[in-house]
Amino acid sequence: MTLGRDQLVVIGGVAAGLAAAMEARRASADLHVTVLERTGDISYGACGLPYVVAGLIPSLQQLVVHTPEYFRERHGIEIRLNSEALEVLPAKSIVRVAENGEEREMGYGALVIATGAAAVCPPLPGHELEGVFVVRHMRDGRRMLRFIEEARPQSAVVVGAGYIGLEMAEAFTARGLRTTLVEASDKLMSALGGGARDRLADELRSNGVEVLFGERVVGFEGGAGRVARVLTESGGALVADIVSIGVGVRPEVGLARAAGLEVGEAGAIVTDERQRTSAGGVYAAGDCCEVLHRVSGRRVWNPLGQPAVRQGWVAGANAARGDGSTRARYAGVVGTNVCKVFRLEAARTGLSLEEARAAGFDAAETETETLSRAGYYPGAALIQTCLVTDRAGRLLGAQMVGREGVAQRVDVYAAALHAGLKADDIERLDLAYAPPFAPTIDPIIRAAHAARKREL
Ligand SMILES: Cc1cc2nc3c(=O)[nH]c(=O)nc-3n(C[C@H](O)[C@H](O)[C@H](O)COP(=O)(O)OP(=O)(O)OC[C@H]3O[C@@H](n4cnc5c(N)ncnc54)[C@H](O)[C@@H]3O)c2cc1C
Repeated sequence: MTLGRDQLVVIGGVAAGLAAAMEARRASADLHVTVLERTGDISYGACGLPYVVAGLIPSLQQLVVHTPEYFRERHGIEIRLNSEALEVLPAKSIVRVAENGEEREMGYGALVIATGAAAVCPPLPGHELEGVFVVRHMRDGRRMLRFIEEARPQSAVVVGAGYIGLEMAEAFTARGLRTTLVEASDKLMSALGGGARDRLADELRSNGVEVLFGERVVGFEGGAGRVARVLTESGGALVADIVSIGVGVRPEVGLARAAGLEVGEAGAIVTDERQRTSAGGVYAAGDCCEVLHRVSGRRVWNPLGQPAVRQGWVAGANAARGDGSTRARYAGVVGTNVCKVFRLEAARTGLSLEEARAAGFDAAETETETLSRAGYYPGAALIQTCLVTDRAGRLLGAQMVGREGVAQRVDVYAAALHAGLKADDIERLDLAYAPPFAPTIDPIIRAAHAARKREL
């Protein structure tokens, strides 16, 4: 058994795990840092997978940020690929590891769990047919691309219209496949309803994607072990040479649960603002964790890349230096998310009206439409904004859709939510203006103005 009080062990070698390892190295040059990763891949941007499938990015290799050698040689961080943590024993500060067909024990002074999330694949009849995929890790991308290369599919069905489903629908279309997107609810990106949903659906349809709302997939059929049709509850049979299932992810908490770590209502590991778990010396970060939602004040599960890295930094700094000697704290999320759907940008931050009411707010929403640039300047495009506010005018959430100027503008609302601003605070912000970038009154100000007037 490897023993070591000066040993930091990190489980998981993607966004959160490697951020923790690097931050720990920055905090302490002497610490032995070992990262265990059960697959053969580390340090890659899973977010780029749809763009490789689309052919926009030529190869999966381009998603790789750093190699194991980089971590070893430049930073003295030991990367162990194909090395799975089987069990964590916090009382003994030991991790049981399987590597190359052998099991061994590793002692740790501090442990960071960054086991991430797994894509949900509902056990519907036929889900095991060749050609039915989830998209989560590098190996999923590899399998899908190999299948596309070999089977040359002509038609695709995407199940689920979350942001990954939307990106996959665009990716298949870009590859020349006839694509159908099937969504059980009447929403896109799990929150966009009304005008924003209709505009996105129109964008998909005008680019050749068939969009079916309120249709539940009940199974898959095929011949010779390969998928050929997707069956829906209403009796439909959609032709599909390839299927991408994007109905959500679940946190990978098996290891943590078995170790007796507290798992919260949202189903992920409970951590405090220093990313400490309920077990001494054990930290957690990324998609396997719950976080504080700064608007609702609740612990939520918010599996996204940027929060994962930042939690990794906090976990790494605290794990390296011990709890007391660092100021590293994670401030929580406001739930910001952006997605490109063909030529549209769709973004949300904070709570939707439904979420706000469910969280107990007396909330209302205000919709506005404004141009992205001065009306006379070429290329001005319509931005639809929906602001959710409470009776006192406090901003609770924002959703935006438009051809340009959405992705960056939503960040202003995210900052406003972070700071707990009201609509009239936002209205008073001094924002940048020049005709190629904004109308004289920016869409952010215009929407806040409309929301404030609604209160009067
Ligand atoms: C197609 C796609 C598009 C995305 N787009 C965006 C986007 O636009 N914006 C955004 O913010 N986020 C996006 N994301 C989400 C983002 O990729 C994740 O939030 C991020 O990867 C989370 O990082 P993580 O390190 O917490 O977990 P993961 O990336 O899930 O990594 C966890 C790692 O832990 C390993 N592991 C698990 N258990 C063990 C064990 N017992 N022993 C050893 N290793 C183990 C796993 O093999 C895995 O490699 C996207 C994801 C996908 C799949």
